[in-house]
Amino acid sequence: MNILAYYAHPDDETMLMGGTLALLIELGARVTHLCATRGEGGERGDPPICRQAELGRVRTSELECAVRALGGGELRFLGYIDPLVGEGEALYPFTQDFERLVTEVRQTIHQVKPDAVITHGSNGEYGHPAHLLCHRSALAAVAGMPTAAPLLYTCQAAFPDHPKPRLQNDDDPAHLILDVTSMLPQKSAAALCHRSQHALFVRRASEAAGRALTVPEVMLGTESLRRRLPEITSPPDDALARLLLASGHARVNLP
Ligand SMILES: [Zn+2]
Repeated sequence: MNILAYYAHPDDETMLMGGTLALLIELGARVTHLCATRGEGGERGDPPICRQAELGRVRTSELECAVRALGGGELRFLGYIDPLVGEGEALYPFTQDFERLVTEVRQTIHQVKPDAVITHGSNGEYGHPAHLLCHRSALAAVAGMPTAAPLLYTCQAAFPDHPKPRLQNDDDPAHLILDVTSMLPQKSAAALCHRSQHALFVRRASEAAGRALTVPEVMLGTESLRRRLPEITSPPDDALARLLLASGHARVNLP
């Protein structure tokens, strides 16, 4: 099984789908990472661990570390520059040239020949424009392939009692719910690689808890997937779904 994980920023691979990727690798899958940007415009840590101009280089190293922690695999970048976070935490997409992005994603699919692509959900999780751009470009790239199109799955799909509703894609009812508690050592190690983002990872949960939480304490032990393409109306019965279900770590979510 050959998987392409396609996402916008270093840390999305861990915080949105890290348990899933680690589990797939443990089950024998090969994972190739495709990250659109190097996270240049994000936070630098509290206190900052580098200058803003250095952040892309720092986060590249952090992502390399996280990919190894999740079980390894090839890491590719599309090379877009992540725009700075604006006034009032305003977030921006990383390109206006959608057709070029779709072409680049499709080129990567032709090179990597994945059985399945896993990417952001149709709400961009919490509506992040860069996540939305990845979702839409993956959808267009796969839908536009006349032959040998991979499966397209999206992360953080919706299900009752989602452990972090802010991350849930409300328009994507889950097909598969994954218990990734046994992958938490790998997922936490990967999250700890993203040193520039530690303050961000724990901020909301710490405010809610009324005490300073650690990065491992905020890791989610449940993840979820929706099969986006080809569209289905019954539980998925493809190679990826069968691999996950046979592992005993996944269950079908029937709406
Ligand atoms: Zn992101």
